[in-house]
Amino acid sequence: MSMSHPLSTLVPRILLASLLYCLPCTSALAESQLEFEEAETEAADDENVEDIESSKPLRKNIDKARKISHPDQTGASEAPESSPKTTKIAPHIDLKELAPPPGVQSFSPETGASETTEPKPEPEPKTATETTPEAPHDEVTPTVPNDQASNTDSTNTSAIDSTEEVAGAITLLGTEIMPGTSTRLSWSSGMQIAGLSQSTPVLVVNGSKPGPTLCLTGAVHGDELNGIEIVRRTLYDLDPEMLAGQVIGVPIVNLQGFQQGSRYLSDRRDLNRHFPGNPTGNLADRIAYSLFNEIISHCTMLVDIHTGSLKRTNLPQLRADMNIAEVRTFVKGFDRMAVVHSSGTTGMLRTAALDAGIVAVSMESGESLRIQEKQIKAGVNSLNSLMEKQNMISRLFVWGKPEPVYYDSYWIRAEHAGILFSKKKLGDRVIKGQVLGVVTDPITNASHAIHARDTGRIIGMAVDQVVMAGFAAYHIGAETEIPDEE
Ligand SMILES: [Zn+2]
Repeated sequence: MSMSHPLSTLVPRILLASLLYCLPCTSALAESQLEFEEAETEAADDENVEDIESSKPLRKNIDKARKISHPDQTGASEAPESSPKTTKIAPHIDLKELAPPPGVQSFSPETGASETTEPKPEPEPKTATETTPEAPHDEVTPTVPNDQASNTDSTNTSAIDSTEEVAGAITLLGTEIMPGTSTRLSWSSGMQIAGLSQSTPVLVVNGSKPGPTLCLTGAVHGDELNGIEIVRRTLYDLDPEMLAGQVIGVPIVNLQGFQQGSRYLSDRRDLNRHFPGNPTGNLADRIAYSLFNEIISHCTMLVDIHTGSLKRTNLPQLRADMNIAEVRTFVKGFDRMAVVHSSGTTGMLRTAALDAGIVAVSMESGESLRIQEKQIKAGVNSLNSLMEKQNMISRLFVWGKPEPVYYDSYWIRAEHAGILFSKKKLGDRVIKGQVLGVVTDPITNASHAIHARDTGRIIGMAVDQVVMAGFAAYHIGAETEIPDEE
C-alpha cells in the first residue's frame, strides 16, 4: 500500500468540489472523480505511522507549552445545543446481567429529534432514592424540559441535600440517567436508510458521587477489536454506587467497519480523519459530527482505544500530545503504559477532543482483527488505575512502575520488497546498527537487513509478512525526560 501525504487527498477533493459546482458537468465525470477520491482516501495512511512522522516535536521548554482551553465545561450533565428537547429516564440495568437486544434509536441532525423506532422498555418516572423497576413496560414517561434536565445542581433529580456531595442526573441521547445507576443506551448517526438503521450500544455508569466524566471509545477503526473488549470489561466492572463521576463507553464506534471486518467506513473513508465532523459534509463527516455532539461533548476526559494496523502490533501504549500540560498530568494515571509523544493529526478524535477542551489520549494495544487477552488485560488494568488516580473509584490498586516511560519515536521502513523476517521481538531494546529483521526477495534470493538507526526500544513492529519497499516495519522509541512543572 502506498503512503501518501494528507494534502494529496485534499487536491482531488477540491477538484471534485469545483466539478460539482460547475453546472454542465456530466454525472459520468463526477463519478470518475469520486472513484479517484475514494481510491486516494483508501490509500491514506494510518495513525500509527503518519501520525508519528508528522508529529510536532516534543518541546523541552514546558513553560511555553500550550494548555487546553475549557469552553463551557460547566458540568458534565449539561446538554449540548443539539440535544433533543425531550428526555426519558433510563432504566437501571446491572451491566453484568445479560442484555436483551437493544431497540433501534436514531438521531436526526436536522430536527434534533431522537426517535425510538422499536418499542423499548421504559421505566416509571422516579427519584434517585427509589428502587428502579427492573420489569420493563410500555408506559411513556413524562417529558422533562431540557433546561431543567440539564441542570447539574437540580435537586429534583436527587433526594440528597448536601450541595457538596450531590451527584446530578446526566442527559445523554435524549435519556436522563439518574445518579447511582448504570444503563445501556444506543447511538445511531441516523445516516442509514430508515428502518435499516443500526444502532451501536452506549454503556453509561452514572456514579452516586459527583466527579469527572470519562469517555472510552473502541473500534473507531472497525477491525480493531481489543478495544471493544477493554471498554466492555471496564464498564461492566463498575459499581455505580461506588463511582464518583460518570463513565461513558462506546465499545463499537464504527459499526459499519466492524461488521465488514474493515478499518474503514462503508464509503472507504477513515472515520478517524473526520472529527469533530460536519453535519452537511460527507458520510464520515456526518457520523463524526453525530458522535462528537451526542456523546463526546459530554466528556471531560477521553481515552480512544486502537490497535496497530496493517499487520503491525504495538506494545500497550498511549499516544499523547506531551506538549500540553493537562495531558502530561493525565498520562501519569495510566499504570504500566508506555507513553509515546504524538501531537496528533487534524481530524483524529483525540485531536478534536483536545480542541474542545477535553483531555484526550489514544491507547494502542496489540493487533487489528485479533482478540488478545494479554493486551486487553493491560488496557483494563490501566483504565482502572486512571479512574483511581482521578478519585473516581477506590480500589486496592497495585501499581507497577511508579511512572510511565515516555518516548520520542520514529519509524523504520523497509527499503526493499520481499518477505520480512524479524530478528527482534516487540519490547526488545536495541542499539544503533543492530539488525532488526531481514527482507528476502523470494525470486532473486537477495536479502537486505533492516538496521536500528539509534538506541531505543521496539514499541511497535510489523509481524512477519510480505512487504513492499517503504512499508513501515519498526517503531523505535527513545526514552526521554518530561520535566514536571510543579
Ligand atoms: Zn485505529
